Amino acid sequence: MTLTITLDLEDSTGANAATGRWVAATERFLAALTERSIRATVFVVGDAARGCPALVRRVADAGHEIGLHGLHHVALGVSGPERLGDELREGRALLQDLTGQSVDGFRAPIFSLTPSTAWAVDQLTDVGFTYSSSVLPARNPLHGWPGLPRAPFLWSTGLVELPCPVLDLGPARVPFLGGIYLRYVPRLAARHELTGLGPEALAWSYVHPYDLDPGAPIRRFPHANWPTSLLLHTRRRATMRCLDRALAAAGGAGLPLGERVAALGDAPLPRVDAARTASGDGAWARR
Ligand SMILES: [Zn+2]
Repeated sequence: MTLTITLDLEDSTGANAATGRWVAATERFLAALTERSIRATVFVVGDAARGCPALVRRVADAGHEIGLHGLHHVALGVSGPERLGDELREGRALLQDLTGQSVDGFRAPIFSLTPSTAWAVDQLTDVGFTYSSSVLPARNPLHGWPGLPRAPFLWSTGLVELPCPVLDLGPARVPFLGGIYLRYVPRLAARHELTGLGPEALAWSYVHPYDLDPGAPIRRFPHANWPTSLLLHTRRRATMRCLDRALAAAGGAGLPLGERVAALGDAPLPRVDAARTASGDGAWARR
């Protein structure tokens, strides 16, 4: 078991200015990764890349994998089936031109690949992505797709999906290795879950620049109400410590996600038909 570190590179203020706090927070995180000899996967929002192209080049030059986190930081349903394909193409080309890397991975903003946006799977595949980490296989106030496999699976188009790792905590199922949950899920529960993940699991954590910016002024987040926004401001000083603990519990840092997907090779993965599963016939478990 290893834990791959991922960063969703976005400016939560939406300004995407090259002088913004999100740039400084990302630079600090990059330095922390270098210190630990960790290569991560960094999912970049197209608007952020346009706002600070030099930062994206520095991320790539440091050896990290670049993936796309949407041309704009909006849920897939907001882009809609008419616009998403063009946005994906534009965002992928933008990042490839900036970095010289093939951009093979996609993460939907706010895990917004859900039954109501199942049409996006075809578009992601058509644009040329080989893997996605866009699904939260749980009920969630924002977005989620309960009932999907918790380990890597194949959409019927051939696109690999790496679901967000979740932990059963009482009646809730929470994405314990990322964002705010990373700072709040009890340490022992997280360690127990990590060490108990089966050999088919592929664990990854996710953070955002704001998770690493304790000094940022308090403000309301675009996708959250005030109580949640306040929670998102707390315990940020603990983020790196919690990440280090999770890495220790997992037995070390994993390779970037694209390399882990390549290593899956021809391993038999469950196949899921997005449209049929979204319509509720639940027939995903076909190999
Ligand atoms: Zn995001």
